[in-house]
Order: sequence, then structure tokens, then C-alpha cells
Amino acid sequence: MTFNNRIALVTGAGRGIGKAIAETLSQNGVTVICVSKSPESCGSVAAAITAAGGKAEAVPVDVSDGPAVAKAAETLLAKHGKIDILVNNAGITRDGLIARMSGDDWNAVIQTNLTSCFHWCKAIGWPMCRARYGRIINITSVVGLVGNAGQANYAAAKGGMIAMTKSLAREFARRGVTVNAVAPGFIKTDMTAVLSEEIRKIAVAQVPMQRMGEPADIANMTAYLASEEAGYITGQIFTVDGGMAM
Ligand code: NAP
Repeated sequence: MTFNNRIALVTGAGRGIGKAIAETLSQNGVTVICVSKSPESCGSVAAAITAAGGKAEAVPVDVSDGPAVAKAAETLLAKHGKIDILVNNAGITRDGLIARMSGDDWNAVIQTNLTSCFHWCKAIGWPMCRARYGRIINITSVVGLVGNAGQANYAAAKGGMIAMTKSLAREFARRGVTVNAVAPGFIKTDMTAVLSEEIRKIAVAQVPMQRMGEPADIANMTAYLASEEAGYITGQIFTVDGGMAM
């Protein structure tokens, strides 16, 4: 994979999949801006990348806060002159059957997973268009493709990301900016660690490969889509799930 002095911004880079994406991009020579909610988590990932000889900085921002995202993007664009790669990965779950799902749980999941993509794509997507180069990768979920009982809010957010990916791919195609999504299946991170052993067994039983994926599985696909070589791929959703949603 080739990356020509590229600068990437990865949201949710403090842990799990986002951390693996930040590390993989950095190992390929990309300068990585690590965004997470808490300064500690993005700070420790950026420090580890720097200690390993890479280039990274930490930017704590609540991605659901539109004005905060716009301000952070403006500051970063003024500092670096450009951001070539945007990975919208930050996400949360607030699971529950709809009868018991509160409005707060609905809104928190939509705002953190979906509206955050709107904020970042608006703030960084247009400068990419003006520069005639960009790679946007949205981390959605197989749940956004097939749905899941108890996750109406999360499925709606992830399905919205898929539709948004295809729409922005059409908007940005003539300006050299690709927009794709990666749909992970069941991956070993803090998000799935909170599930009971019973739920985890049921989920793994639905995976033809009979095991959970690793954050690196998602990071490798994301890095490819972020590379120079992926320049003729846009508007696509890449499922990385051990065959779960065939
Ligand atoms: P995770 O381990 O829970 O990490 C989530 C990351 O998102 C953390 O760094 C967290 O920041 C950040 N984040 C959450 N809310 C934020 C906010 N409001 N502002 C800024 N950052 C915020 O999650 P993961 O499993 O790696 O998941 C990453 C993405 O993959 C998510 O979009 C998730 O929906 C998707 N996904 C995961 C799986 C899976 O099986 N794990 C499957 C399909 C899709 P802090 O570190 O500061 O808390």
C-alpha cells in the first residue's frame, strides 16, 4: 500500500478498532490525528505511536458536538494545511428492545454514530474536495445491513451511515474524494467485552468462521481503502465478518 505523506484523522482512536486503524496507518508512514472523547485514551495511543517512531497527535473531542467538531477541524486544517484521510469510527451502543428504549438512548446512539459523520464530513470533506484528493472511510456494522433485535437505534445509525456513504460518494466522486464504508461483524473490543458469555456464544455461533474478529482485521481493510491504490473504489460497503452476513 502506498501513502504519499498523507495525514489521517481517526475518530474513536483511543481504543479497539480505532486504535488498530491509527496504529496500522502510522506503520504505513501516515501522520495520524487520534480523536477520542477522553484525553487519556487518544493521548495514550498517540504517545505509543510517537514512541514507536510514528507521527501522531491526540485531539479529545466529543464527536456528537457539532460546534466542537467544526472548531477542532478548523484548528487542525490551519495547522496541517490538509487532512487527506478521514475515518469515522467513534461509536457507542445503548441496547434495548424498543418498548423499553428511552429517547435519550435513541438520541445518544444516533448523534454519536451517525450525526458525528455529518459533522466531520462537512468540516473535512469540503476541504478535501477543494484539494481534489481525499479518502473517507465510515465504520458501520453488519447490523446496519441486516438489523438486530434490541439494537433499533444502533441499526438505524449504522444503516444511515451506509446511505450517507453512498450519497457522499456520488457528491464527491468528481473531486477525487472516495467515500466507502467497512461493516465489521463481531470484533473483540471493549464494546463486545461487556456482553454476557451467553450472548457472545450465540453471536459466535452465527459466524461461519466460528470465532470473533480482531481489530486488525478491520484496520487492514480500512488502511487499504485509505491507500493511493484504492482510488477507483467509491460508494462501497465492505463487510469484514467471518462470513456472518453472506
Ligand atoms: P470501543 O472499543 O467501545 O471504542 C470506542 C471508541 O469511540 C473509543 O475510543 C471512544 O472514546 C470513542 N467514542 C465514543 N463516543 C465518543 C464521542 N462522543 N466522542 C468521541 N469519541 C467517542 O468500540 P469498538 O468496538 O472499537 O468500535 C469502533 C466502531 O466499530 C464503532 O463505530 C462500532 O459501532 C463499530 N463496530 C464495532 C463492532 C464490534 O464488534 N466491536 C462491530 C461492528 C461495528 P473514549 O476512548 O474516549 O471512550
